[in-house]
Amino acid sequence: AERELMRTQRLESLSLLAAGLSHDLRNILQPLLIVPDLIAQRSDDPRLKQLAAVVAECGRRGHEMAESMLSFVRGSRRAAERFRVADLFHAVELLLKGSLPRNVQFERRLEAADAELHGNYTELQQCLLNLCLNAVQAMPDGGRLELVGRLEGEQVVLTVADSGVGMDQRTLEQLFTPFFTTKSDGTGLGLVSCRRIVEGLGGQISVHSVPGEGTRFDVRLPVPSEPAEDEFGMASAVPGQGE
Ligand code: ADP
Repeated sequence: AERELMRTQRLESLSLLAAGLSHDLRNILQPLLIVPDLIAQRSDDPRLKQLAAVVAECGRRGHEMAESMLSFVRGSRRAAERFRVADLFHAVELLLKGSLPRNVQFERRLEAADAELHGNYTELQQCLLNLCLNAVQAMPDGGRLELVGRLEGEQVVLTVADSGVGMDQRTLEQLFTPFFTTKSDGTGLGLVSCRRIVEGLGGQISVHSVPGEGTRFDVRLPVPSEPAEDEFGMASAVPGQGE
């Protein structure tokens, strides 16, 4: 389970990286689509015209590659579905079990037993898992990890709290900056992708931390609107909530 975990985490980081790279690359190559043609038009030197054509062709190919990489990464984002928070919590606990040291006490508590969410199940699972694994890593001497779900008005609030080392002000300020990490083997992409997932569903992620006492992450997501039921009593897709 741990290897599978590392793999999905790495994939998530990679696709984030690929999206950023291909987006920038596409913009950087933009002048290559225009300038060589201009040079060729304004020059009488056949050798220069030929070189300009070669550069233009490279530019077109590079631009095309960046374009298809970008649409691949964006298209690979999975579709949204409706699911129970209880199932999500259960899956997170199963995946977490293998990475849970003996001296870390894990508690899973769902205060709204029937709570549901709308979004990509796997992505949200990955997000909660990231938060839980960060929490475990923040408790080298053991402690308590809580995964709590509750309803607050029109929002489902998912909390991951630990009794670990906490964070100083400087770390708190840079937490969601890509590649910011205080770990020798960290990627600094876990929280960035978490926030991307949560905000993509119209939610927010907030953090409260006290050095030496612990850290709490709150993920707030909108309660799904009531689905229309058809004559078979089956819930149909909720319009306007897809990606
Ligand atoms: P990574 O885990 O690869 O470092 P993240 O984006 O998940 O990347 O986290 C960035 C940084 O935020 C971590 O390196 C760590 O310093 C800090 N951090 C995240 N979660 C916690 C936590 N629960 N307790 C203390 N520090 C944390």
